Amino acid sequence: MIGIYGGTFNPVHYGHLRTALEVKELFELEQLRLIPCRLPPHRDEPEVAAHLRLQMLEAAILDTYGFSVDKRELDRAGPSYMVDTLHALRNELGNTPLLLFIGADAFAGLERWHQWQRLFDYAHIVVMTRPGYAAETLSIFLQQRLCSDNTQLRRQAAGCLVFQEVTALAISATAIRELVAAGRSPQFLLPDRVIDLIRRHHLYQVPIQNTGHNTGN
Ligand code: ATP
Repeated sequence: MIGIYGGTFNPVHYGHLRTALEVKELFELEQLRLIPCRLPPHRDEPEVAAHLRLQMLEAAILDTYGFSVDKRELDRAGPSYMVDTLHALRNELGNTPLLLFIGADAFAGLERWHQWQRLFDYAHIVVMTRPGYAAETLSIFLQQRLCSDNTQLRRQAAGCLVFQEVTALAISATAIRELVAAGRSPQFLLPDRVIDLIRRHHLYQVPIQNTGHNTGN
């Protein structure tokens, strides 16, 4: 089984990396692919070039067994629709089960993603939750895909919905950008190799006006 973990990774931090490792082990994945998405051109905050987000991600997972970075969304023009990404992966991977990992925050907006129902044609969706998380009432479409037995994820290539508790680390990329902009140290929130890149390229040093973003999905 192959796992897909998408995000802006602006910058990647231990909240991402710890959950990625946990789900890789829990689901016994052969591979976990981190997929950085493009940023829309209208972000108010200081832009970080895609190649730098990619470089930080590659530095973060260096030597981590079974982890890889898949940069297809950065190479593709236009919005980063997850359905297009999964479709392309499905064509490459044949019948290998694919697990798309998303945070509970992202799951809350899933039904607004571009052609969201088609996601289940290409992958299972695993919602990473914090302890005590209570899902909102699910639509009939989602209820029908709920799966309580994880062995089913191996038996079919796509189509299931699973909730999985993970260790919640209260770290966010927004908070890291704010720390750096305020001249404070982000040490211990993200790998030193990523901090070196942030320093070397003087990233995030202008105070942030607006941290909201829209990745396309
Ligand atoms: P930002 O603060 O810029 O919104 P972020 O830290 O939330 O960024 P993203 O790159 O947007 O990071 O997140 C990618 C994925 O990682 C999402 O599925 C999100 O739910 C998950 N994620 C982000 N931070 C954490 C964390 N601390 N613990 C667990 N999962 C996280």
